[in-house]
Amino acid sequence: MYFNERIETMERLQLRQLQSERLVKLVKYTYDNVKFYRERMDEAGVKPEDIKSIDDISKLPFMKKQDLRDYYPTDTFAAPMKDIVRFHASSGTTGKPIVAGYTQHDLDCWSEGVARCLTAYGVTKEDVVQVSYGYGLFTGGLGAHDGAQKVGAAVLPTSSGNTSKQILLMKDLKTTALCCTPSYALFLAESIENDPNTDVEKDLHLRVGIFGAEPWTENMRKELENKLHIKAYDIYGLTEVSGPGVGGECEYQDGTHLWEDMFFPEIIDPVTLQPVEPGQEGELVFTTLTKEGMPVVRYRTRDLTHLIYDKCRCGRTMVRMGRILGRSDDMLIIRGVNVFPSTIESCILELPEFTGQYFVTVDRVNNVDTFDIEVELRPEFYGESMDKLLHIKDRLVGRLVSVLGIKPVVHIVEPNSIERSMGKAKHVLDKRKLSN
Ligand code: ADP
Ligand code: ZN
Repeated sequence: MYFNERIETMERLQLRQLQSERLVKLVKYTYDNVKFYRERMDEAGVKPEDIKSIDDISKLPFMKKQDLRDYYPTDTFAAPMKDIVRFHASSGTTGKPIVAGYTQHDLDCWSEGVARCLTAYGVTKEDVVQVSYGYGLFTGGLGAHDGAQKVGAAVLPTSSGNTSKQILLMKDLKTTALCCTPSYALFLAESIENDPNTDVEKDLHLRVGIFGAEPWTENMRKELENKLHIKAYDIYGLTEVSGPGVGGECEYQDGTHLWEDMFFPEIIDPVTLQPVEPGQEGELVFTTLTKEGMPVVRYRTRDLTHLIYDKCRCGRTMVRMGRILGRSDDMLIIRGVNVFPSTIESCILELPEFTGQYFVTVDRVNNVDTFDIEVELRPEFYGESMDKLLHIKDRLVGRLVSVLGIKPVVHIVEPNSIERSMGKAKHVLDKRKLSN
């Protein structure tokens, strides 16, 4: 089922035409209204008239997160403040947050993106959608909320946290679709398991999981599907581009469709900044083709992934994105080897003895990198003999060495000892950065 069949299944040639028209307008709009774009384009020697179609996009300069910080809070806004109807902000763990401003039209486009995702997951007006993403400056809560309302579902805006109340309402209001980070979904699932008054099969009505805002793996999908008796779907987005719903999976779960009529994606080599060969891994770059409040042109997301342009079996013509390996800044370089936390997660969940909870600590001692991973045993394996535990640990270390090409020190810890996250999980402490 489609939310907007005409657009979602548009012939690619026609889509290209639409993207071209929108890009030409956008470039003129940003050049006229935002000093940042004017200066950058002038420096690059590009005039709005040079952009005649989407094929000319590579003539335009890139924008980086630092640019948004430098122009904090609103100097990259293109619409006058009287037309802004909402602000959001990214978490800003490393310095000033990024502030995004939305016009009513921007909010309409954003909720359309979320509505397309929800419809692809089979959510309709018959559903009760529990939004357990945080509400507030974070785009997750209100973004999912507006999209669910747009498809006519009943929204249960629980926000994150207060887990026992979440479970109570989930039961009593018969939630069918759950929206949150995969980390929080895992925590909710564990809490339901430990709740003697709630049986997933008998007491819950969950059918669909809508998970995003952080990287997660196929093994985590299986874990959440088994625990919650749902089909779990990916939803992707970022504050700078709008929020969740820049794209989502379809029923075939063979990549995340990106709504290219609104958010034009490119993949570049983060070092040379040149486009990669089609299908190759690289950094995802977005241009917002319909945004008015804070449009971005060739914004470097730092998310690493690849794009698939073949037509999908679902009939949608919109490009698909492979799973996000992580942000380039989440990548750890340990003894010269590149390591993504999501790869570690995937290895841990291959073994039935462990929960998906883990924590990585990296440090440098006597000029050598140390690499420690805490992994949590499932309660049913907690009483195992020392021999058995050592054997389990060796299996995990062996698997990690073969996949990562580097040997970590694995520490098996008690069930429930790793801190749970209500939103985006923090899986890594890199002490090398602290001492710099
Ligand atoms: P912040 O930058 O403060 O974390 P955002 O909520 O805007 O704020 O985060 C967006 C980022 O979250 C994306 O750039 C991406 O790295 C990550 N993300 C969002 N959705 C997904 C997803 N489905 N899979 C993997 N990563 C995701
Ligand atoms: Zn599809």
